[in-house]
Amino acid sequence: MNSKKLRAATVLVHQGRDRDPSTGAANIPVYLSSTYHHFEGRAGAYDYARSGNPSRDQVEEAIALLEGGVRGFAYASGMAAIGGALSLLKSGDHLIAPDDLYGGTYRYLTLVLPQQGIETTFVDMTDPQQVEDAVRPQTRALFLETPSNPLFKITDLRAMVDIARRRGLLTLLDNTFMTPLLQPALPLGIGVAIHSATKFLGGHSDLLAGLVTTADEDLANRLKRHHNALGAALPPFDCFLLARGIKTLKVRLEAAQNGALLLCERLANHPAVAKVYYPQLNDHPGRDVHFSQATGPGAVISFELKDHKQVRPLLETVKLPIIAPSLGGVETILTHCWSMSHAAIPASVKNELGIRESLLRISVGIEDPEDLWDDLAQGLR
Ligand SMILES: *Cc1c(COP(=O)(O)O)cnc(C)c1O
Repeated sequence: MNSKKLRAATVLVHQGRDRDPSTGAANIPVYLSSTYHHFEGRAGAYDYARSGNPSRDQVEEAIALLEGGVRGFAYASGMAAIGGALSLLKSGDHLIAPDDLYGGTYRYLTLVLPQQGIETTFVDMTDPQQVEDAVRPQTRALFLETPSNPLFKITDLRAMVDIARRRGLLTLLDNTFMTPLLQPALPLGIGVAIHSATKFLGGHSDLLAGLVTTADEDLANRLKRHHNALGAALPPFDCFLLARGIKTLKVRLEAAQNGALLLCERLANHPAVAKVYYPQLNDHPGRDVHFSQATGPGAVISFELKDHKQVRPLLETVKLPIIAPSLGGVETILTHCWSMSHAAIPASVKNELGIRESLLRISVGIEDPEDLWDDLAQGLR
């Protein structure tokens, strides 16, 4: 099967390997083996499960095919994937990252990397000049995330790739929110694409997983050695769950995005809502840049209530959404960013970034959007 010529929806279903070569089973078996027999005393394609496992190969090939990479890597979580990708940096290196980075990544860059002698400067990446100005002789990489979360600030990926090329920097993109379906990163020139597959790729709020891919052979070889050395590989059963989730990404994402478009419109017209953040909105800053690099707005919306005292009653009233710090599941997930997803970020920093106590984020699932609206409207009353 020459998957390169196939369209995304087909690749999602067939994923490079879609049946067991030895039995014809319609799914790749869950290979629960830590080690592999050396026939006639010689190592075959697999020798020890940390280094490779057929169940893992399936999802690693899938992400490489979807993003246009030469090789993929599956990690035990999105954070393990980010740590794995950042292991490409070494002591003395300097990193530039957005000031409204995902909370867990912010924690990693401020807690772990400084101990390894890697310093990060946080800038407003919606302004390429700020990135340009932050580059030092020691700068090795740009860590990117767009749209950002929860305010959906848009970074111009082509402008970042251009700066990186001129200044000899590596670009790493956390592409979790858009997935390879809405925003294929490597064709834009991004060096390393990273996904928390816990979110849309897995899609069912039933596993933690991370995926990394690159189109650069040399980076792929280094990532492969580090992946094996770090040992945070995705376990076989979780690979099976992830492969199953990936098959339906297109139908799930399209349904969720349609629901998000409806909720966005209704929220924007509701008297209790002060402001809605969603790349689809005509006045959303960076909207044109977003649609020059992505094909859809995604399925996550944020909105601010006029009165932050209304947050509690809303959370206590709604029945359908899971109230939790996550996103990308088939079920709608409602997050109070201040106290959940962004709890790791100091209050003063949150205020500076515009993440107010009155802000809520909704990751729209695939329920009937009219039911979701009835439920939310009830909570907003
Ligand atoms: C959830 C998330 C992560 C971390 O992924 P885990 O699987 O929870 O470790 C990283 N980046 C973004 C944008 C996320 O939403």
